[in-house]
Amino acid sequence: MRTIIEHAWVLTMDPQNTCYKDGYVIIEGSKILKTGEGPSPLGGDRRIDAKGAILMPGMVNVHTHVPMIPFRTMGDDCQDRLRRFLFPLEEMAVTPALVYWGSLYGMAEMLLSGITTFLDMYYFEDQAAEACDKAGMRGILGETVIGQKTCDSAAPYGGLAYGEDFIQKWAGHPRITPMVCPHATNTSSPEYLQKTFAMCEKYDTLFTLHASEMDYEMKEFAENYHMTPTAFLDHLGILTPRTLLAHCIHMTEADLDLTAERGASVAHCIGSNTKAGKGVAPVKGMVSRGIPVGLGTDGPSSGNTLSMFTQFRLFASFHKTANHDRSLFAAKDIVRLGTSEAARAIGMERRIGSIEPGKEADLVMVERDSVNMFPCYNPFSALVYSAERSNVSRVWAAGEELVRDGTLTQLDLEEIRGRLWENMGDFIKKSQEFSSII
Ligand SMILES: [Zn+2]
Repeated sequence: MRTIIEHAWVLTMDPQNTCYKDGYVIIEGSKILKTGEGPSPLGGDRRIDAKGAILMPGMVNVHTHVPMIPFRTMGDDCQDRLRRFLFPLEEMAVTPALVYWGSLYGMAEMLLSGITTFLDMYYFEDQAAEACDKAGMRGILGETVIGQKTCDSAAPYGGLAYGEDFIQKWAGHPRITPMVCPHATNTSSPEYLQKTFAMCEKYDTLFTLHASEMDYEMKEFAENYHMTPTAFLDHLGILTPRTLLAHCIHMTEADLDLTAERGASVAHCIGSNTKAGKGVAPVKGMVSRGIPVGLGTDGPSSGNTLSMFTQFRLFASFHKTANHDRSLFAAKDIVRLGTSEAARAIGMERRIGSIEPGKEADLVMVERDSVNMFPCYNPFSALVYSAERSNVSRVWAAGEELVRDGTLTQLDLEEIRGRLWENMGDFIKKSQEFSSII
């Protein structure tokens, strides 16, 4: 099957930042066959006239907890919510069915906003993988390893055994990469941080965890080890090119140097970090050192929207303000953090993140007919400063058209919402225990 998309404003996001104002992209099967300016030189089974719409690579969300849809809008403004109600409520009330239907709902939301690849960390990841398989997206799915009992393990660190079965079950899937990940620097013992890392090495996967995110985490490491969490990870030998540090709000200059030297990457979640008042991570210092940085929405409980457009806009506003520099991070560089740089941060830059022949056919079309999209002198500016998720008209992942005319082609959102709601009764009842804070 060969699909030809013509008359598109193609932003390839390749290293030269090639753009075609009236360009074409040819999809053959699940891959990109050819791109260029003008009409397509080849025929195809299907021709699509983009009518000047922007065509960009499928966006890459490098940090989320997608099954957490049932928690959205619960205790958003509650101080220390992770320890006061998220951890206990998760342990009491999250079930495989909630994870399956919550994941599918969150994936529908991501697809509708142009995200085709995401990195998830949660529990019952087997159900998240089932949902990802159905949704047609690309998922790097991590079973969480943590030093406390959880909804899917009666003993601390049960995620490690669960995770190994999970990895073996899903290994080799064309769109799903199974893995294990410690929850955070301070919620797993040093021994289990290393054990989890060893499993990631064994199965040659990424190693990701929350790091340098919490004030109390920084204090604990200073008091217990006289080191920052970054230096401590290095001390354990697990700050490496396979390491993706999520958040990194409180990094010192020495932490940044060390991270760059070790070849580790960063998942930056500007929306959830600033919503929580935690601070603005030093991304300027990361990028200037060549550290790969990708944007993450974080979970629907902490970041609320699963839209990269929200991250683009917040990223521009916060980083320009924090550095008092309007010219810092041009729109095209911000779009890179959600596409090609995000792919580099998760080690998938040879397969996704740009529109180039031989890469996966993960594409997003953003229409320019809506009221907020006219005029458009600079398509990158339009994506960062004007566009909304409602402007996403078509989405392809692995060559499959998953969104057309702004509507899901293979998932029934009303049915998913209904099934999720049916499964939320017990969860809502149990959440009442925390009614004074949520
Ligand atoms: Zn997170």
